Amino acid sequence: MTMAFGNRIGAEWRAGVGTRPNINPSDTTDVVGVFAQGTAADVADAVAAARAAFPGWSHSGPMDRHGILMRAAAEVTARAEELATLLAREEGKTLTEARGEVGRAAHILAFFAAEAVRLTGETGPSIRPGVTVEVTREPVGVIGIITPWNFPIAIPAWKIAPALAYGNCVVFKPADLVPACAWALVDILVRAGLPEGVLNLVMGPGRSVGQAIVTARGIDAVTFTGSVATGRGIAAACVAGQPMRKVQLEMGGKNPLLVLDDADLDVAVRAALDGAFFQTGQRCTASSRLIVTEGIHDRFVATLTEAMEGLTVGHALDPSTRVGPVADAAQLAIDLAYIDKGRTEGARLVAGGELLNRPTPGHYLSPALFTEATNAMAIAREEIFGPVACVIRVRDYDEGLATANDTDFGLSAGICTTSLKHATHFRRNAEAGMVMVNLPTAGVDPHVPFGGRKGSSHGPREQGSHAREFYTTVKTGYVG
Ligand code: NAD
Repeated sequence: MTMAFGNRIGAEWRAGVGTRPNINPSDTTDVVGVFAQGTAADVADAVAAARAAFPGWSHSGPMDRHGILMRAAAEVTARAEELATLLAREEGKTLTEARGEVGRAAHILAFFAAEAVRLTGETGPSIRPGVTVEVTREPVGVIGIITPWNFPIAIPAWKIAPALAYGNCVVFKPADLVPACAWALVDILVRAGLPEGVLNLVMGPGRSVGQAIVTARGIDAVTFTGSVATGRGIAAACVAGQPMRKVQLEMGGKNPLLVLDDADLDVAVRAALDGAFFQTGQRCTASSRLIVTEGIHDRFVATLTEAMEGLTVGHALDPSTRVGPVADAAQLAIDLAYIDKGRTEGARLVAGGELLNRPTPGHYLSPALFTEATNAMAIAREEIFGPVACVIRVRDYDEGLATANDTDFGLSAGICTTSLKHATHFRRNAEAGMVMVNLPTAGVDPHVPFGGRKGSSHGPREQGSHAREFYTTVKTGYVG
């Protein structure tokens, strides 16, 4: 019988009440591993272990925390090829894309290792003579971490690393679909020297394990990445809880890429191809709305569809594959339903959108491009989270900017232009947390803030030094 990978609670790896097989979307006969399914009782034990560990960990020396995170970064780097293969098998992104993600996880661990020793405070005079004011940051406490399936190692790393660096303890639940990289990361961090109870892992469904984390007494803050609907419920539960919890939400996107008549056509097509279809379009920052001015529209569509023909869809581990499979059958059904909807709404499917047969059974879909879309259509308003993009024709820059901003989301926005005036105006006026000029809307650096506006994000930014806003709480001391 296959041994299941257990949950990490306190000092032990513990079996769950059941198990769940982790299925490879490139080959559904390949079981990547069998993983424990936890319960609300496991969450309660994990929270108790984290609470017990907090006094020691929150007063641990910064160099101790630095050392642990650096050792973890070194192991992730040393095992990069093995971890990238595991990632590509469980999520379906290509091996090249998976290598990039694993490298990013290592960078994040190393970045926050340094942040642990970089945390400083401020002092200054009080308005009262003879009194000094000191502003310091302290860890928040026990952090609940809930992550989605599309970045199985990078998103866990960018939440767990700052939580630990700033002295917090963690109860972590990864997405059900991708527990393998999450388990490997926790194992690496534990062996790097974390005291027992500092980092706990409880795998299982969102509605039971996730909900238990959000509502458990003893959780001080929740950081979540996932869909808007889940995020909204989590925020409400965090505020309703006793005590109220700090909450950080990173959610969906419907990111515009505005292509102007004066754009370099090759730059624009490369940005659209990467932004819309790489990583199978399963990125919160994907360019799913391509907003194109009249003068370049037809050339842009012709060149993009030609470039799409060169995108080989296949098994994530096949070196010739450029686009891996959709992550699971449920997401594939959503993608196909939106492709149908796009047609019904009157958009024109000019490329892709077909189920593909490959030597192994998997969720293969050719990247789909719609033209003649309007910004009112469901395919332009709702996040699909698959390799499906639509082209919206606009008259000029002003209509393009208004269309780009006419969305419930605000994560990333891009423009392709050779005009400094328009690039500058767009950077200032795009209603998004991240703005890209002559670059895909997806693809961000790990050392600077990540996050959005409107329905895409809620609470402080993630990553870079800005991460401390969520993972620490400020104390103002007065000394007479
Ligand atoms: P999801 O909302 O279905 O699930 C996310 C996580 O929440 C999973 O671990 C899930 O088990 C858990 N969960 C589900 N219901 C819960 C509940 N009631 N209480 C607590 N936890 C619960 O999202 P997904 O399908 O895993 O991921 C795709 C979504 O993530 C997309 O909308 C995408 O845009 C978004 N995403 C956003 C970012 C970002 O940084 N903005 C990054 C990656 C993905």
